[in-house]
Amino acid sequence: MEFDLIARHFTRATPGAVLGVGDDCALVSPTPGKQLAITTDLLIEGRHFMPQDGPAGLGHKTAAVNLSDLAAMGATPRWATLQIALPATNDAWLAAYARGLFRMLDAHGCELVGGDTTRADVLTFGLTVFGEIEPGCALTRGGAKPGDDVWVSGLIGSAALALAYRQGRLFMEQIHAAKVLPALYLPTPRVELGQALVGLASAAIDVSDGLCADLGHILTRSGVGADLDFAAIPVHEIAHDYLHEPAAIEAILAGGDDYELCFTAPAQQRTAIEAAAQSLGVRVSRIGATRDTPGLVVRNAHGEAIPLARTGYDHFAA
Ligand code: ADP
Ligand code: MG
Repeated sequence: MEFDLIARHFTRATPGAVLGVGDDCALVSPTPGKQLAITTDLLIEGRHFMPQDGPAGLGHKTAAVNLSDLAAMGATPRWATLQIALPATNDAWLAAYARGLFRMLDAHGCELVGGDTTRADVLTFGLTVFGEIEPGCALTRGGAKPGDDVWVSGLIGSAALALAYRQGRLFMEQIHAAKVLPALYLPTPRVELGQALVGLASAAIDVSDGLCADLGHILTRSGVGADLDFAAIPVHEIAHDYLHEPAAIEAILAGGDDYELCFTAPAQQRTAIEAAAQSLGVRVSRIGATRDTPGLVVRNAHGEAIPLARTGYDHFAA
């Protein structure tokens, strides 16, 4: 039964592996001389997704949030293993989940080579992804230098605006909400951008817990501070209608789930970064700069510091 399920939904040809699903272990041959970048993320019903969320979107998100971590290191995705805990089996649901998962994995050349499947009370998915990177080239959180530019990819806050709308914390016109909901359900990991930033960026992170919280990790690890210009933070055009709402400002500065990259780079890399992003069709924006004194300040158009009550999502906050 469990084996049928694995065979039907999660067993695919894996030309990039020596041995894929079906034995006690998968076997892979990493490219000689490369380092492995390894990361894992859990998605738990009731915490990371809701029972009514569609399975194909969940499959997409399971892959996207993990590929986003590889992106933030500049690594090239190669292999993945999938852990599923589920209360009951529903074939059509799992087929749609697998479709969403494989579409995202296939788009980035990442092969599912194994996993584990078990019955449990709470529907849970975990994916571990393995990427490759040239030794010494990974974009860690610790490399920012004072005076570096702070950049972000894409648009910031869209996923959190959608979540605030869905949770009733922010009123939005339905046609506006419809424009930001895809950012929450179908995030785009910036895998190619991450790879292109190797050698250009000094530090990088993906925005999963909130812009200020995630940038804060770079700052702490690098021993620098930063000043950001709120007006320079790229937001969806519909967000401008809601900027008088504290919930909207909070979504942009402290909301998570965008899976965009936030990175730092020396000013002399500006042209190269813009060219790389343009060739990939990804928007990048310079939103501030780092400084040698610690702290993070976001200023409004009048140069006043915006109070940061909550900088991001803390899984263990009371
Ligand atoms: P074992 O008991 O040796 O751990 P399992 O019965 O758990 O083996 O799994 C059988 C095979 O199916 C293994 O190759 C395992 O990696 C793979 N597998 C199990 N669950 C999944 C899954 N959800 N996705 C992909 N592969 C899976
Ligand atoms: Mg097992």
